[in-house]
Amino acid sequence: MTMTTTARLLNFGPGPAMLPAEVWEEASENLLSFGDSGIGIAELSHRSPEYGAVHADVEDRLRRLLGMGDDWAVLFLTGGASSQAFMVPMNLGTRGDYVVTGVWAKKALAEGKLLGDAHVAASSAETIFDHIPTDCDWRDDADFAHITSNNTIYGTQYHTFPETPSPLVVDASSDILSRPLDMSRFGLIYAGAQKNLGPSGVTVVFIRKALLERTPDTLPTMLRYTTHHEKNSLYNTPPTFPIYMVGLVAKWVENQGGLAAMAEHNAAKAKLIYDAMDASDLYIPHAATTDRSHMNVSWKLADDSLQQAFLDGAKAEGMVGLKGHRSIGGIRASIYNAMPAEGCKRLAEFMADFAARA
Ligand SMILES: *Cc1c(COP(=O)(O)O)cnc(C)c1O
Repeated sequence: MTMTTTARLLNFGPGPAMLPAEVWEEASENLLSFGDSGIGIAELSHRSPEYGAVHADVEDRLRRLLGMGDDWAVLFLTGGASSQAFMVPMNLGTRGDYVVTGVWAKKALAEGKLLGDAHVAASSAETIFDHIPTDCDWRDDADFAHITSNNTIYGTQYHTFPETPSPLVVDASSDILSRPLDMSRFGLIYAGAQKNLGPSGVTVVFIRKALLERTPDTLPTMLRYTTHHEKNSLYNTPPTFPIYMVGLVAKWVENQGGLAAMAEHNAAKAKLIYDAMDASDLYIPHAATTDRSHMNVSWKLADDSLQQAFLDGAKAEGMVGLKGHRSIGGIRASIYNAMPAEGCKRLAEFMADFAARA
């Protein structure tokens, strides 16, 4: 295998995010010819037996990792996680309860409001989304309850999931496959691939089959979950290359020891950075201690004027993508599955050095 030897930077960007080098190495071996087929992986017909086997294998791996039985459907869709904000109410019913924990939750709520009776069960907007509200006003007769398991911008994460009277719908775009999930708790989980699953271009939707009965036949064909379920996500041309990549990432996660091992690894990685943050008054964490995300770590510098020096200093040491989202500013380190512990250790060391010099 020959690859250029340009050093890869430690990319702490929020997404599209870094993927494991092993995954890219395997993909690159199949770009010109998938196995000995003589046709590149992205050039295979979505109706070919070669691609068919890939497609089925990706679904199997996701089912195995998350322990999804026959009562779950796995769909590969396009339109990003953003399109699920309207597909969920269009398919499940437009009486949705929402916990508003950040920008993505707010956007989902806005789509819900366009379509029907969307209700705010709880919100942490008043404190700039620094925590996960636990006191929620769920309606007994709602069609679904929508939460965002990890808030990519604010760096908060659900560490336990709420009990809800209606089926729990989770936007897990930024923490899917980062930890085991007790699937019995959920009705639907969706995730855009580009944070933790693969390149951008595919959105995975896991939906309890019983919920498919709710899809109205009056919805346009492409918007119906049932269309994609009945055709095995091959009703139209699916994003074949991103789906293939999700399979390689899932295989990599299995090789790391599966989701329990990933969760342990991610918690240890996050701790390195949180410890560095807590060790100096220069760093002001954004998230409430109990709700700290293991995927996105957000903080500010006590002296704003040092922020650019921090970013420049990190860059000089090969660490990039650390600028916080424009809505809160500050610094954010995105440390999804593919970020090695060594990367978090280097960032933590840089933080300590920088604080000592400041
Ligand atoms: C990135 C992100 C989205 C948006 O995903 P798209 O695929 O760009 O539509 C939605 N929700 C969360 C939690 C995200 O992190």
